[in-house]
Amino acid sequence: MIVKKSPEEIEQMAAAGKIHARALNMLAGKARAGVSTLDLDAAAARFLRSQGADASFLGYRGFPGSICASPNSMIVHGIPGPEPLKRGDLLSIDLGVTLNGWVVDGAVTVAVGPATAIADKLLSATRDALTDAVEQCRVGNHLGDIGHAVQSRVEKQGLAVVKALVGHGVGRSMHEDPQIANYGDPGTGVELAEGMVLAIEPMITTGSDDIRMGDDGWAVFTVDGSLAAHFEHTVAITAEGPRILTPWHLEDSERRAA
Ligand code: MG
Repeated sequence: MIVKKSPEEIEQMAAAGKIHARALNMLAGKARAGVSTLDLDAAAARFLRSQGADASFLGYRGFPGSICASPNSMIVHGIPGPEPLKRGDLLSIDLGVTLNGWVVDGAVTVAVGPATAIADKLLSATRDALTDAVEQCRVGNHLGDIGHAVQSRVEKQGLAVVKALVGHGVGRSMHEDPQIANYGDPGTGVELAEGMVLAIEPMITTGSDDIRMGDDGWAVFTVDGSLAAHFEHTVAITAEGPRILTPWHLEDSERRAA
């Protein structure tokens, strides 16, 4: 069952999203060589505490971090660790924020140091795919329009959609209906309606879309070791069109943090 949110409820989620965006912008700026993902995790926890908000992931099914930090061929769900980031790493930072019982979810992927040509192509395509997908979040469109927007953007560039992982509805709970595939056919699936709030999250690789679980039971990797990127927004479907509730904004300088 898809739980629709009232305009007042969407405002509450937007308040959580403001904090989310500030946190994610801050984390993207800190993701530099020599910094560990555990450092980023601590910075996230500190910032959220200062805002009276909670990290939605912490304790979720026993997850030990405030963020998910997933480098290189790790697609999602990385547990923060002590190893320093190196120049040339790609790091996906995923964050859930809970404020007054409302959850928002969003992610960015950043290059640590100068991005290689293939990494740069992957980052640009995945961001563009998210932008295209958000544009489809309109009353009367269908879930398949969202998936199709992602798939058509990345596949024509020779990149692969991870099909085994999906976006989701979000609200009082982090994972609500519906599931949102990053592939599909236009005009198919659930019809979008005012008040739906969706976490849209293309997960894209430079190789095959086959995945494997890590030994920690959380991390998800590409099987072939190819690079992965992940960008995510929480988006409300309103009468006026899509409203991004997690308005993180990466400057080019942050995408290429040295
Ligand atoms: Mg999500």
